[in-house]
Amino acid sequence: MSLFNVYPLFNITPVKAKDVFVYDKNNTAYLDLYGGHAVISIGHSHPTYVQKLQEQVATIGFYSNSIQNPLQEQLAKKLCDVSNCKYYELFLCNSGAEANENALKLASFHTQRKKVIAFKNSFHGRTSAAVVATDIPKIVAPINAQQEVEFLEFGDIKALTKSLSKEDVCAVITEIIQGVGGLDEATTEFYKTVDTLCKKYGTIFIADEVQSGFGRTGNFFAFQKHDIEPDIISIAKGMGNGFPIGGILIHPKIKASFGLLGTTFGGNHLACTASLAVLETIQQEKLIENTREVSEYFINKAKQIPEIKNIKGRGLMLGLEFDFPIAELRKKLIYEHHIFTGSSKNPNLLRILPSLTVKKEHLDVFINALIKALELQEV
Ligand code: PLP
Repeated sequence: MSLFNVYPLFNITPVKAKDVFVYDKNNTAYLDLYGGHAVISIGHSHPTYVQKLQEQVATIGFYSNSIQNPLQEQLAKKLCDVSNCKYYELFLCNSGAEANENALKLASFHTQRKKVIAFKNSFHGRTSAAVVATDIPKIVAPINAQQEVEFLEFGDIKALTKSLSKEDVCAVITEIIQGVGGLDEATTEFYKTVDTLCKKYGTIFIADEVQSGFGRTGNFFAFQKHDIEPDIISIAKGMGNGFPIGGILIHPKIKASFGLLGTTFGGNHLACTASLAVLETIQQEKLIENTREVSEYFINKAKQIPEIKNIKGRGLMLGLEFDFPIAELRKKLIYEHHIFTGSSKNPNLLRILPSLTVKKEHLDVFINALIKALELQEV
């Protein structure tokens, strides 16, 4: 049987990985500044993570639903402690798309409405609100046919006010920094207005922190910079450092009842162990502090490269914007300099999403390689 071919792939097959490096069968080291779409948060094969997962596999490898799993409580407690989101409750699932689907369903149940507002150029996974793909509408056919999604310009307060004032919107869903869309972030005024208007018109405010959460932006959650309180926060990616896990943090104004949400695999022992190891490591190794420090260092270096016209994002969720498409440059970085970077919907933007353990010396390697690759760049 062949694979259903929906992703373009680079011709590299990693056979082992350690911290910010992955290695192919010839033991060639690749500096990973992409982390498989921002998934690697505490470094590949982190010793604490590996040890805890091995111990867990050797005891109860996997069990999820309908019996007690104290690891879920431990994870909720630890997440509350590290994120400082004190009052929320946690529901666990397996991916970012699933987290957002659960968030949208919950919003719909809570408000008894079905209309959703999302923003153009956002990405919320292969869900009813998969907005980045509005230009390929066939693949965004709503999973939940009951839900209608209205797409507004990101940051457009006037249009948002007009829509919300009709009091028929169950949820506004937004990334705080648009990842796949190209690293735009709206103003604090915009996010505060979303928060205020949602409260005023009885709409649920969903912050999609699937990519930006777990310390990636230099705050535990990107929304914390804007001093707002979303009703639901969706999480995944860096949460498991490669192990599939997602979840939603739910404000206590939304009440739980049996049967409201459900899952087979969500919150299983292995997934909880992976995420607990991530949170412990973020705390013990002060990775949020590291993120801020290396980010500042990197941005200062990047500013000295004249070909970089704009630096977008914050923390270790960054985009370097050029005035030409970066596809060839990215290939050069991979095949000639052995460095993984990312792309986005903006063809001129090179995305940098390394593990939060990345050090200045690794970023120096990248900067030097980038300078060399740009010297030879045919524009
Ligand atoms: N939300 C955001 C902001 C994302 O960036 C992504 C994936 O890139 C998703 C949701 C979907 O997550 P997953 O691929 O785990 O379903």
